[in-house]
Amino acid sequence: MEATDKMLVRSKSGLRIIAANADNASPFLLQEPEWVPDNTCSHCMAPNCNTKFDFMKRRHHCRRCGQCFCNSCCETKMSLPRMCFVDPVRVCGNCAEVTKRENEFFDKHLKVLITGGQFVVADSEPIDDNGPSLVCKLSSSHRYIFFEEDMSKRENIYLDKIESVQILTSGTDPQGNMMGTGIAIKYRLDTGEEEMIKLQVAQVPNRKQAMLWVSAMQKATKLLYEKQN
Ligand SMILES: [Zn+2]
Ligand SMILES: [Zn+2]
Repeated sequence: MEATDKMLVRSKSGLRIIAANADNASPFLLQEPEWVPDNTCSHCMAPNCNTKFDFMKRRHHCRRCGQCFCNSCCETKMSLPRMCFVDPVRVCGNCAEVTKRENEFFDKHLKVLITGGQFVVADSEPIDDNGPSLVCKLSSSHRYIFFEEDMSKRENIYLDKIESVQILTSGTDPQGNMMGTGIAIKYRLDTGEEEMIKLQVAQVPNRKQAMLWVSAMQKATKLLYEKQN
């Protein structure tokens, strides 16, 4: 079992609920940004605004990027699950766009990953479509992928060890769209060795769930990749 103790902390931006042990923190979380110091910014930092701050025009910091804005450029309040704030917080126009996408991931795609999908695992070619299938899920801590009821006791795949993901396709549908049939994940083992696993969507009645899982996994990798840069 994973330790999932949470604690409530107060920062200058608001209350946050975080994992009591940083090692158990979700890899999707972001650090709070450093705030641009008030004395180094005399004007609103939004493109095309340039409002000068004074006694009436007060400074407001975007909680996501830490830059300094006038009220009208930073008046949107949004929930920021990637920074664990309890309540919606102020974000600038740019960050509002990014946050909207990220929140969709948290509300929708993360749930798909945790629910899991049914796959046939292939460590090598060719993939046996009729091989035994198993359910592949993201752990509730978001830290690793595990295989439910896997008799071979396959190792967990830690998200922070994933190097790349590739969508497997086979032909096109009648509309000419590539048809996804699975996902190949390249990752590193504890030993540093590189490993590749192919998850082929199992031919079961709820194969749509596995397809959604593949697409959510692709989005997850993108978020993690953006974070490193
Ligand atoms: Zn911002
Ligand atoms: Zn402004």
